[in-house]
Amino acid sequence: MASIAPRGPLIEDLARCVHCGLCSQSCPTYVETGLETESPRGRLHLMRAKAEGRIAATSNFLRHMDLCLLCRNCEAVCPSGVPFGRIMQAQRAEVLATHPAPWWERLLRYVVFTLLMPHPARIAFLAGMLRFYQRPGLQGLVRKLRVLRIFPASLRQMEAMLPPLSSHFFSPSMAVTPGHGKGRGGAAVFSGCVMPYLYAEVNEATVRVLARNGYDVKVPPGQVCCGSLQEHSGERAAAEALARRNIDAFTSGEADPIIVNAAGCGATLKEYRELLADDPGYRDKASEFAARVFDVNEFLARHKLRGALGAVPMCVTYQDSCHLAHAQRVTSAPRALLNAVPGVELFEMHLPDRCCGSAGIYNITEPEMSARLLHNKMQDVQSTGADTIVTANPGCMLQLSVGLTREGMPGRVAHVVQVLDWAYQAGEGDEKMPGAKK
Ligand code: SF4
Ligand code: SF4
Repeated sequence: MASIAPRGPLIEDLARCVHCGLCSQSCPTYVETGLETESPRGRLHLMRAKAEGRIAATSNFLRHMDLCLLCRNCEAVCPSGVPFGRIMQAQRAEVLATHPAPWWERLLRYVVFTLLMPHPARIAFLAGMLRFYQRPGLQGLVRKLRVLRIFPASLRQMEAMLPPLSSHFFSPSMAVTPGHGKGRGGAAVFSGCVMPYLYAEVNEATVRVLARNGYDVKVPPGQVCCGSLQEHSGERAAAEALARRNIDAFTSGEADPIIVNAAGCGATLKEYRELLADDPGYRDKASEFAARVFDVNEFLARHKLRGALGAVPMCVTYQDSCHLAHAQRVTSAPRALLNAVPGVELFEMHLPDRCCGSAGIYNITEPEMSARLLHNKMQDVQSTGADTIVTANPGCMLQLSVGLTREGMPGRVAHVVQVLDWAYQAGEGDEKMPGAKK
């Protein structure tokens, strides 16, 4: 079904802002710049003026919108319930429809959003090529010869940030991993489009931890990218098309809970009912689908951990992923899980829920602001004395790993389910604790 034309933010959503400014100090771009136009209140004011025809979408207007991380910290603290995420996504969709991007950006969007992201086999092929590129010697030689100078700065930035790809990739399949002990029913894992290649071990840990907790774990074939990047970039029709495919993939069998280990994907999947609200063929299915979606942290904490957790001596600090803390409002579950592991000591940062500057592809599109936020974050990490940064989203894992390297800090980055997985291995007498990627 064709998507209806983007209509921009709704006036009733914009009108919920009472200009109290209580969100300002929670906004990373306002704190960094001190500019009202880079605050949630300022952006809402501009969007309302634009919606009412009092200003045009000038380059200044677009700049203030682009610099927003869509971290939704403002939404989480707003006493008036302003749905900032929905507003900004609608604004970006409208801008994309009414202000055609330069030809090279349109080409890039077409390649990424149309030719690549909807096709898992093509993503796997590209990941295989990148893994070949990362073979010992080749990447170093390319960098030494400075061959990458011929590419745009954004591509060079991506190359510099790319962590070592997993030695093997993770794929959905028809296989079921049986649960241990007394059965608790099925669990369907959403594998994501980045995790299987950059952090296959996180998906594997998720399957093992769920199985140890008594769930028969499936990773349904046919699932695709959640559409989060597309929606945040204003590509609403592309996001809707992916949502329909995921709904079909997860509704063809049992109505098991859908477990997600990537906070950004989880937030998008939980909002499929809004995304497909104008599609009569999928509206109800999207509602049923969204009600089955759980972040792996909230699911495990809600149903209580089973089995013997061995000691994993680590000093950790927990970075709240924006789309887990602010979009899904899940903050205590990951901490409860970490505190349940013997040997884990949790040291809180001063601002654990402040964005690390990853924000989808923000670290590529807005490298300067992203670097400032990352530097602040790493200072906060350093003040805790932790040896491991634990988080719950691949984008955050990638960004924080870059932070360790940039700041010359020792330490490593891990996902919450990896820590649980190591604890289960230790509980079975397996002393080997795999090192997470730095
Ligand atoms: S978005 Fe909410 S917290 Fe921020 S100024 Fe408006 S009403 Fe106040
Ligand atoms: S989404 Fe984040 S960056 Fe954007 S206005 Fe809200 S707090 Fe600021």
